[in-house]
Amino acid sequence: MNKSWAIVNKLLPFSCVDGPGNRLVIFLQGCNFKCLNCHNPYTISLCSDCGSCVSSCPHQALSLVDNKVIWQTSACQQCDTCINTCSHSSTPMTYRYSVEDILQTIRKYQPFLTGITVSGGEATMQLPFITKLFSAIKQDQNLKHLTCFIDSNGYLSQSGWQKVQPVLDGAMIDLKAWDSQIHKKLTGRDNHRVKQTIAYLAKINKLYEVRFLIIPEHTDLQHNATHLAQFLMDIDPNIKIRINAFHNHGVHGIAKTWKPATQDQVELFAMQLKNNGLHNITLPSVYL
Ligand code: SF4
Ligand code: SF4
Repeated sequence: MNKSWAIVNKLLPFSCVDGPGNRLVIFLQGCNFKCLNCHNPYTISLCSDCGSCVSSCPHQALSLVDNKVIWQTSACQQCDTCINTCSHSSTPMTYRYSVEDILQTIRKYQPFLTGITVSGGEATMQLPFITKLFSAIKQDQNLKHLTCFIDSNGYLSQSGWQKVQPVLDGAMIDLKAWDSQIHKKLTGRDNHRVKQTIAYLAKINKLYEVRFLIIPEHTDLQHNATHLAQFLMDIDPNIKIRINAFHNHGVHGIAKTWKPATQDQVELFAMQLKNNGLHNITLPSVYL
């Protein structure tokens, strides 16, 4: 993919849940996992311009021109009919932004920002763009104080992390299951690379946070607190952990039938991690 521009699903000028402080978040289109519990499955694939969603738009905001789907933002009413029509886990509603486009947006909000987070989809699918964007931020006298973070599923290879490492300040990594087969069932991929990523980023001092999502009866994290704690304690006893509680609002397919995680289940898991030496643990602020 050309590294001078990115396919962006959404840009959020302010967020306080995507890394430290107040952050501008860029959600890139495309993912290499297919999580059963994905809340935004339309971010998984790049649009193939098949045109199937065009006629579904009740507001004539979509058209097919020279075999390309054109999205007219001024006509769009954000009704989501197109993404519910698409059978390719995609959306026609994406933006093609250059590094300079995004820098201009960052400059607008810069006085209120602590940093930038690139998320997804899976952000690292567009790694050359991220590297170029972060490099440009570091070279700009007015922006270089902003920290540059990646929110990732951890599947990027070590050589990939090495490429972005000089301009990366921190990364949040999700570990979705302890057992590789369960991870594969939940995401479509095993977790070897994810565990390697956590160890590697901690070693080079770029790991901001490891995230666990508790899904009762479907992930095995809560049954492997001792294994998880041993793994993380060997890496860094001060490792920052965030535990999230699964809820089935907004999920699709089979995950709609899954039970939400309760406060008791999350707190029991946190206590087990603490009993095994981990102490830097953040719990959900709300449970649904
Ligand atoms: S969300 Fe999609 S279907 Fe709805 S108005 Fe916008 S382009 Fe059309
Ligand atoms: S969003 Fe989906 S249905 Fe619409 S053109 Fe792209 S791939 Fe086809």
